[in-house]
Amino acid sequence: PTSLLWFRRDLRLADHPALLAAVDAAGGQGDVLAVFVVDPALWRPAGAARRQFLRNCLAALQESLDGALVLRSGDPAVVLPALVSEVDADSVHVSADAGPYGRRRDTAVEEALGDVPLVRTGSPYAVTPGRVLKQDGEPFRVFSPFARAWRAHGWRAPAPRPEAVRWAAGLPSEDLPSAQDLGDVRLPPAGEAAAVAAWERFRDTLLSGYPETRNLPATDGTSRLSAYLKYGCLHPRTLLAELAADGETTEAVRRFTDELAWREFYADVVWHRPESVREPLDPQTGAIEYDTGPQADALFAAWAEGRTGYPIVDAGMRQLLGEAYVHNRVRMIVASFLVKDLHLDWRRGSRHFLQHLVDGDLASNNHGWQWVAGTGTDASPYYRVFNPTKQGRQFDPEGEYVRRWVPELRDVPTAYVHEPWLAPGGAPAGYPEPVVEHAAERKVALARYQQIRSE
Ligand code: FAD
Repeated sequence: PTSLLWFRRDLRLADHPALLAAVDAAGGQGDVLAVFVVDPALWRPAGAARRQFLRNCLAALQESLDGALVLRSGDPAVVLPALVSEVDADSVHVSADAGPYGRRRDTAVEEALGDVPLVRTGSPYAVTPGRVLKQDGEPFRVFSPFARAWRAHGWRAPAPRPEAVRWAAGLPSEDLPSAQDLGDVRLPPAGEAAAVAAWERFRDTLLSGYPETRNLPATDGTSRLSAYLKYGCLHPRTLLAELAADGETTEAVRRFTDELAWREFYADVVWHRPESVREPLDPQTGAIEYDTGPQADALFAAWAEGRTGYPIVDAGMRQLLGEAYVHNRVRMIVASFLVKDLHLDWRRGSRHFLQHLVDGDLASNNHGWQWVAGTGTDASPYYRVFNPTKQGRQFDPEGEYVRRWVPELRDVPTAYVHEPWLAPGGAPAGYPEPVVEHAAERKVALARYQQIRSE
């Protein structure tokens, strides 16, 4: 028998339960047909950086399968039944998708396949979203208790690599999607081997310092694994197993595990509340007033182009355009600035991020935004307004990050690098005055949040 392995966000061969299931289903004698479907519904909105990264991941997978990966483009509910009849496959194997579009698509594919089963084995998460519940059977709404329950639930050991896979060969494949025009943006190397190398480098050299360095955007202090995790070039369970291997839970291991848990938490929230990728999770906060109109549009453009006059915000937005990536601390700062200093809808910001981020992920991004906006998974965060100057001084004390991304500020003395308008003689020529005054806008934001709380 032939079984079909439909790759999606699992572009690797190690620790791949659906691959094992496909090999099993094919029996000792049968072939496994490896397929990736370029689905316009996901490809079109992805943005150039993510498309290019995905394309490069597919090229790497193609190579590790000695060319046996079959690429087809179109609606999977049309493409897959056609392939199944071309090779007379008995089953189609996938890693389960927990996102709203993926779940709808898989139901449609399942129906279109008729008698041929769509078999879901594993998922892109250590614990399949939906499995960690409160004692009363309800889903978690707050991170810390979720993380505790998630750890207590535990996860399987990594799946072993199948000994030999007989990949079905000879079927016509489309070419890789064409290369995207990225301008000057340089992406990290793609694919499973690059992901493993990035992980090993982090594990061996950076992890021990992670609790101290993870918040410093000028420092190479985090794993930079997010895009690899997004496309499944490696599985979080592989990382968790290695972290647990020496039996000692250091502060660094605990911190890093917590970050992986945030990713699992947001996927879990979206599994239970798929509409929360678009709507505020907390319906009361749907009433918050956001600014619109030409003035709001001009402020949005200043934010998106990195010319707000607040150095750490501008550095972050320029990092996004330059690297298709932003440091986590700075994601929080720029997001807070958009929502609480410029009073713009978090959805405008989250769309912009998804357009540009190489790790853009609906659950992590939109809930990251909601966390900052105070509309999401937290109890009473409306008073949490980041002060961009203080954040800059605290997390980029020498102004190294700011100077890297905002060359106009290169010669500003460190004492003023986060408030160049206070420098003797003012901000350097070519660098904008602050577009708003933080202290005043903070009050406006708090008043708007108080308003909905008292309604
Ligand atoms: P590390 O610090 O090395 O963390 C390891 C891994 O843990 C990350 O690769 C990621 O998979 C996960 N992780 C870490 N922090 C978070 C978090 N807060 N939420 C969810 N997962 C986390 N992450 C994305 O993967 N895609 C996004 O689209 C995304 N958008 C974000 C938007 C906003 C407004 C904010 C505040 C955060 C967003 N994050 C997103 C989370 C976080 O910023 C990135 O995962 C992290 O910066 C990636 O760098 P790293 O791999 O070096 O992280």
